[in-house]
Amino acid sequence: MRELFRRHHEPGFQAVDEVNRDIPDDLWVKCPKCGELLYHRELEHNDMVCPKCSNHFRLSAHARIAQLADPDSFEEHFSHLLPTDALGFSSNGEKYSDKLASTQRKTGLREAMVVGTARIQDEPVVLAVTDFRFLGGTMASVYGEKLVRAVDLAMMHGYPVLTVSASGGARMHEGMFSLMQMAKTTAAFARLGRAGLPHVALLTDPCLGGVTASYCTVADIIIGEPGALIGFAGPRVIEQTTRQKLPQGFQTAEFCLEHGMIDLVVPRRELRTTIGNILKVFSGGCRVDR
Ligand SMILES: [Zn+2]
Repeated sequence: MRELFRRHHEPGFQAVDEVNRDIPDDLWVKCPKCGELLYHRELEHNDMVCPKCSNHFRLSAHARIAQLADPDSFEEHFSHLLPTDALGFSSNGEKYSDKLASTQRKTGLREAMVVGTARIQDEPVVLAVTDFRFLGGTMASVYGEKLVRAVDLAMMHGYPVLTVSASGGARMHEGMFSLMQMAKTTAAFARLGRAGLPHVALLTDPCLGGVTASYCTVADIIIGEPGALIGFAGPRVIEQTTRQKLPQGFQTAEFCLEHGMIDLVVPRRELRTTIGNILKVFSGGCRVDR
């Protein structure tokens, strides 16, 4: 996500190093887009958006929930569901089961999908948020199951669903079981639609493969974060396959908006208000500021 400032040859290192040798490693962060050196606390105060170039840094699922949900309103559900290695899969000499265990230790999460109930601007909602740090936010059996249960929970209470996705697509370690989640989740959201309950999808950087090709692009309202990469295959694969130069800004949220794939591009600091207003429109307590 962010490049930590460690290397001596990078500009500014000495200035930082000389101030205090005991400062934590992540105190300074280099913006991967404009190269600006940013003070981490200042970046956090700015919702993890670069003040110089507006690059939206990736967020963990819980940081995202803290930004979107009303304070103390989030209650997690289905966190007991644990992924398993049904295929005995290994890649580059590493077993999937070991990879899962190390990722779980590193992230403190059991899966890439975090589900719960919350309120946004006082509107009740079921939240389903992907954490990209967990194996690239890839969709596999438990990810899909938690999404389906999120829909069931929403239908039980009559709540809308807000999905927030940041994913590389389907998880290869679970093979066909991962691909099946595309149909399973899309069918669940079709049921939600038939029940007259809305699905709002927020697509953040990056949103690719089986996730873009399933539940998050069948939502009633699709919002992109500025600059987010949104597509099926990545731009390099497309360029290699078609042997054509892709247009400037291809597959960014702005490009998708211009070509009718999504409905809105909303800067991070306006997300809570915009989503809150959308939920109010759907619930009948209409107040349209945007
Ligand atoms: Zn920047």
